Amino acid sequence: MKKPQSIPGLLSNSHRRRFRRSLLAWYDRHRRDLPWRASRDPYCVWLSEIMLQQTRVAAVIEHYRNFLRRFPTVQKLAAAREASVLAAWSGLGYYRRARMMHAAAKVIVREHGGKFPASEEKLRALPGIGRYTAAAIASIAFDEPVAVVDGNVERVLQRQSGKRLAGEELWTWANRLLEAKRPGDFNQAMMELGAVACTPRAPLCLTCPVVEMCATRGELASAGKPARQKKREIHYALNYRNRDIRDGEVLLVQRAGDASLMPGMWELPELASTNDERSPAFTLRHSITVTDYTVRVWRGGASSREFGKWIPVERLGKVALTGLARKILRKAEML
Ligand code: SF4
Repeated sequence: MKKPQSIPGLLSNSHRRRFRRSLLAWYDRHRRDLPWRASRDPYCVWLSEIMLQQTRVAAVIEHYRNFLRRFPTVQKLAAAREASVLAAWSGLGYYRRARMMHAAAKVIVREHGGKFPASEEKLRALPGIGRYTAAAIASIAFDEPVAVVDGNVERVLQRQSGKRLAGEELWTWANRLLEAKRPGDFNQAMMELGAVACTPRAPLCLTCPVVEMCATRGELASAGKPARQKKREIHYALNYRNRDIRDGEVLLVQRAGDASLMPGMWELPELASTNDERSPAFTLRHSITVTDYTVRVWRGGASSREFGKWIPVERLGKVALTGLARKILRKAEML
């Protein structure tokens, strides 16, 4: 008889059972108390999963609560203006995610009567919902036995197997490990393990619940050099005027609607360069993917007659700001 196709590092049936038991027992005892874990409502699961892509948990918590207060149901989100959705997303970055959620909410209301499709396959037909997000919603909200693979799960699987698993191998391995009776909890437990114990650097193997079934018990040997960060300096003008003693207005500009990055978002006017002999008002650091920016902020320096709009400081919380604009305005104590 032909042997089933095997993946190197795959555990035996009994080891897989032990892996599931140990991981879930650890998750039941030690999982972090995060607001989205209080609900299995697919709308809440979806929102948290989209926000958690490319954003740290600590940064998501407050945004998640605020967004739900503003748009408590998929119907409210579908009926909202795009500018309001982007404003509620402000500070999280990667605004395409918010636009896609808005578009998907409209499809759910228009084509599914406001009810979430209850399977991974149907969820994947919605705008902005890929394989990972569909599997996360289907398993957590609807108990469908499908595994997820994100960066954390990938790292756990590679270390556990001792192999640089990639592409489809990862999904196959994750699905074979999955606990079909508690798929949502198992998926969250794998991600939790990667986030708090099996961390990118210096994993906490001594406290790991699946250490006995792990091939590497530490970092997997690196296959190549990490990408070098580029460095760039940028300058922004902070123009501020008082209307009365209590508040004032700040000059912002809107990015073009067809800009490839953050279209339609508001930011401070950028200065091409400055030969100014003064010192900047302040300097801060900002990193986007492979570039580290040194951001110098100057008082004045952009004419309101040419472009821009004076925005009352009290309204800044409702404006769809870029992440960097938010950071600058916070540093200037206007937010
Ligand atoms: S033993 Fe260490 S390397 Fe292996 S899964 Fe646990 S934390 Fe990760």
